[in-house]
Amino acid sequence: MIYDPQTYALPDEPMKPFISEDEINGMLEESTGDPGLVREIIAKSLNKKRLSMQETAVLLNTTDPELISEIKEGARTLKENVYGNRIVLFAPLYVGNLCTNNCSYCGFRTSNKAQQRTTLTSEELINEVGMLEDAGQKRLILVYGEHPRYSPEFIADTVKTVYGVKKGNGEIRRVNINAAPMDIEGFRTVKEAGIGTYQVFQETYHRETYAKVHQGGLKRNYDYRLTALDRAQEAGIDDVGIGALFGLYDWRFEVMALIRHVNHFEKVYNVGPHTISFPRIKNASNVEVDPRYQLSDEDFTRMVAILRLAVPYTGLILTAREPAHIREEVLRYGVSQIDGGTRIEMKGYSGQKPSQNLDAEQFEINDDRSLNEVMEELIRKDYIPSFCTACYRVGRTGEHFMEFSVPGFIKRYCTPNAMLTLAEYLEDYAPEQTKEAGYRLISENLAKYDDERFKSMLEERLEKVRQGERDLYF
Ligand code: SAM
Ligand code: SF4
Repeated sequence: MIYDPQTYALPDEPMKPFISEDEINGMLEESTGDPGLVREIIAKSLNKKRLSMQETAVLLNTTDPELISEIKEGARTLKENVYGNRIVLFAPLYVGNLCTNNCSYCGFRTSNKAQQRTTLTSEELINEVGMLEDAGQKRLILVYGEHPRYSPEFIADTVKTVYGVKKGNGEIRRVNINAAPMDIEGFRTVKEAGIGTYQVFQETYHRETYAKVHQGGLKRNYDYRLTALDRAQEAGIDDVGIGALFGLYDWRFEVMALIRHVNHFEKVYNVGPHTISFPRIKNASNVEVDPRYQLSDEDFTRMVAILRLAVPYTGLILTAREPAHIREEVLRYGVSQIDGGTRIEMKGYSGQKPSQNLDAEQFEINDDRSLNEVMEELIRKDYIPSFCTACYRVGRTGEHFMEFSVPGFIKRYCTPNAMLTLAEYLEDYAPEQTKEAGYRLISENLAKYDDERFKSMLEERLEKVRQGERDLYF
């Protein structure tokens, strides 16, 4: 056990939990956005060095519009230099919306009697996954409310069911989960089912606000949630995603706490979390949100740029909660994964409806384009949409870190694998117009390779995909 179960303290930090409000507030109060310092900090990040919490606080306190543009420009340069032009695509799949918690911001909360409650049967789950495969999806995140029915065994069974669905050339190659915290045994059970990333958001790292918005159920326990990912690590799940729900409390505080959470991981496990998510609260069934902390578009886009600079080798996830124009802007600053073709209504993929029904889903989404529309848009903007799952399957974990630190890693693995999975999509699912544009993009990117040997190897594999072979990767 890493923590004292009473105090949740670390062995090397006796009796002190790793999130300290005094520490965060102190840093936010002390730092100022001095132009020289801001530029130095941006330059440090562009030099591929992670930022400290104090340095992050300086960027968060910067209000001068010119400096903010420089922060955004820095994030854009970092993204281009380090990550290139691939964007990983996934889709969320809601397995069940029973919930015993009472989170004030969520349509699934137990006191919301208007919510229609459903748990997918095995047959319904298979049906949904079939629809997702028919659209071309390869990576899913399964989402669950918190309820005794959604035990680790239940979750593990649903994960295995999803992996088992094969329709035509379709298959799901990576199943991530977003589910309530478990004990170590529970995490072992879901790990054995072959989950990819385990994701859980702290929602707010601010204790008082946490207590205010979590009014019932197990989720009331701040510490049990904060230490969920430590228990996951104990159980051998080293691929985890953290996040905060923006709009509950001061966004600067939440960013600092996210960075502190990353530091905790690096210090104790030698590896940071795989991804950070930063959803903004959206309209939901019977939900009223405190307007004081609503995050404007301007602050939101700035926040993404600061996160990119602060933790340059952590994946950043943006979801369809955000409208297309915001997605487009933050893709430039370093978001590396987005969902596409998203439906969050229960059974939403098989029973497509013309409009959203908030009483049958968790919250409102703002980007309801089909997967192909999202793909077309990405291709038009010269991004390579990727369904790659190679690193995870050949045991190259910590891939964001490798992308960042191993010279040539992206050119040798990520971009070719993105092209191969794009080619599969173009062959199996794309309309003619997308197919033409997609292959044009692949040719343009192939032309950038001057290592002739590698290039011909890649061309050979692309040809094999055209001839019907599937699941080829480097
Ligand atoms: N029930 C589990 C839990 O709470 O951790 C997992 C699934 S929950 C459905 C997934 C995430 O949705 C939550 O962690 C929260 O951040 C987010 N969420 C809840 N209500 C939201 C809203 N109104 N707008 C945007 N995101 C919301
Ligand atoms: Fe339940 Fe999760 Fe919604 Fe809270 S956020 S009400 S735990 S589904």
